[in-house]
Amino acid sequence: MPELPEVETIARVLRQHLLGQRLDGARLNAIARHGKALLFDFSGAITGRERLVARLGMTGTLRLNAAPDKHTQAVLQFDRDALVYSDIRKFGRLIWSNEPLHLGPDILALPAAELARRLSHRERAIKPLLLDQMLVSGLGNIYVDECLFAARIHPLTPASQIDAAALSQAVTSILEAAIAAGGSTISDFYDPLGRPGRYQEQHRVYGRAGQPCPRCRTAIVRTLVAQRGTHLCPSCQPLAQ
Ligand SMILES: [Zn+2]
Repeated sequence: MPELPEVETIARVLRQHLLGQRLDGARLNAIARHGKALLFDFSGAITGRERLVARLGMTGTLRLNAAPDKHTQAVLQFDRDALVYSDIRKFGRLIWSNEPLHLGPDILALPAAELARRLSHRERAIKPLLLDQMLVSGLGNIYVDECLFAARIHPLTPASQIDAAALSQAVTSILEAAIAAGGSTISDFYDPLGRPGRYQEQHRVYGRAGQPCPRCRTAIVRTLVAQRGTHLCPSCQPLAQ
């Protein structure tokens, strides 16, 4: 599913093509991203609201001028370009809403001290907390595994025990590298122009079960944490007793 780097990739491409165009008479002024949500802000109301919120769920896609198919849920016809929203599994949403987002702060914009404050009093395992979009928004299964490996943190470590500064540094460097590579394409992510991401070539643990750890050569392990497939190096990410 699209996580922060994939959604940011989509936002950057759409900004280049759609800003300033009109939809039903209202001008598209800004495209912002918060966590995994995209926010389209218009100069005038459409159906009574100035903001369109896109949450892509598991399989939602936004493509420019693509031919609609049986999975297409909506076509937004701007002056020059059509934005085509399709979703095979239909967990995503396009919603006109002026309401505040019910999401935690965007993790890429979150200062390390604030991340530390949010985690410091929690005994729950770090991985499910980082997947909780109400606590911090933007990470999904791929990037949580990559960030915890980079920070040498076992996914089951109680949040209060982790080095939040190391985690924050890992999150920033990995997400920025992933954005620069246009996101990760495991099976079905393509940007609005139909281009795949390249960051999957730099994954160090995700999807690499049985292969040697790039740091220490121990075999990468796949296990389940909070019902999610989880990849880690048992040597680099020991679980403290
Ligand atoms: Zn290792």
